[in-house]
Amino acid sequence: MKHFPIFLAVEHRRILLEGGGDAALAKLRLLLKTEARIEVFADAPAPEIADWADTGKLMLRRRELRPCDLPGAALVYAAGEDPARDARIKRLAEAAGVLVNIVDNLADSAFITPAMVDRDPVTVAIGTEGAAPVLARAIKRDLEERLPATLGPLARIGKAFRSTAEALPFGRKRRDFWADYYFFEGPGALADDGPQGAEEVLHRLLARHLDAPARAGHVALVGAGPGDPELLTLKARKALDAADVVIHDRLVAPEILELARREATLIDAGKQGFGRHTPQEEIARQMIAHAGDGAQVVRLKSGDPVIYGRLDEEIEALEAAGVAWSIVPGITAASAAAASIGRSLTRRGRNSALRVLTGHDTEGFAEQDWAALARPGTVAAIYMAKRGARFLQGRLLMHGAAATTPVTIVANASRPDQRNIASTLATLAADLDDATLSGPAIILYGLSPRAAEARLPELQELAHAP
Ligand code: SAH
Repeated sequence: MKHFPIFLAVEHRRILLEGGGDAALAKLRLLLKTEARIEVFADAPAPEIADWADTGKLMLRRRELRPCDLPGAALVYAAGEDPARDARIKRLAEAAGVLVNIVDNLADSAFITPAMVDRDPVTVAIGTEGAAPVLARAIKRDLEERLPATLGPLARIGKAFRSTAEALPFGRKRRDFWADYYFFEGPGALADDGPQGAEEVLHRLLARHLDAPARAGHVALVGAGPGDPELLTLKARKALDAADVVIHDRLVAPEILELARREATLIDAGKQGFGRHTPQEEIARQMIAHAGDGAQVVRLKSGDPVIYGRLDEEIEALEAAGVAWSIVPGITAASAAAASIGRSLTRRGRNSALRVLTGHDTEGFAEQDWAALARPGTVAAIYMAKRGARFLQGRLLMHGAAATTPVTIVANASRPDQRNIASTLATLAADLDDATLSGPAIILYGLSPRAAEARLPELQELAHAP
């Protein structure tokens, strides 16, 4: 982030602008929405600027900006549309320590003005650091359509009620009250009965929330999907939005943790196969303690929590402690991996059954029904296989699986650094040893990437090589 977005307090402060043409007009239309004192310096101002000056909306000085104008100003805009004039303003502003923006000149500006969606007091600022104004405009249009026009009045009425709402204890209770106002009862009341209706709703809701018993804690065991935030379910998004505490696994992508409510406490319960990890009892203890305090806890697991997520153990611990829980399923790594190679995990005439296995478990390498796996046409999704690959390969070959059986390794499925390696049973372990292969990897045994179909004979040839 080369530019940090902030909202600047400008009430009663001076904002200076030099220039009187189109660039000046465009900026002034935005600046006039603020409560700042606007001063325009222009020898030949556009008629609109003169009108605004006549109606007291801004102060017009028909001369150039001088050093003595700058002290105490919050911001300066150089909108002269003339490089020499703008450079002069930049020099003066810098000498006076005032932030300067040169219109349409990102490189020389100390700050930039974002694209804005205005539902005052709710404002959304959109910036692309100058990379793609088209994108900023598209996002703005999208938000304009999505945010109801009544959001402004609704928020203004809510803001005036803030101190009254402080009768509710800070935290969850107060948040629930505001959520009811903004998302459920407020919009309808404002539409039907105007501002007075919205105010009545606030009073009614406050009485109701003051009386309501404290909400009980709850643990949602949520699937975070394989990594791509767009593969989160809507339910997972909602749970993250409402979470007070998020206890997540190591594999959960940072982009997904970003989506948790900003005030939420994030707890890393990272587990590493065969290595350092937070013991299961400690995870259970944390979930129970936070839920006991009335928190909405999200236990966030990569992929689908119902697959290799030690879900039952956690649920049993919650039940023993009398904590309410729910499961939000997610997209498992195998689904994302299969999608990435353009294959389905089952197929008529090839495999009607799909095997889901783990390469190693807490006891070490996992034993399987090797004879069944070795049968032609078998498809298996093998999780946590990195360390167990050589063992797996040996067992399968020993039980008669063909060395040419197609195998695909998918690392970091659905993430920007995803890698797919088309391999065979014969070359699997060597391919997995590849030192450049980092991140979680899953093996799709019995499947080759659709795109590598043409290369299959060549791969199989390699499998026969000594
Ligand atoms: N509950 C998870 C699995 C957890 S076990 C799920 O449903 O996906 C951890 C294993 O999942 C890893 O060792 C790896 O085999 C697999 N895995 C998880 N995320 C992955 C990803 N993005 N790409 C490839 N494999 C992944």
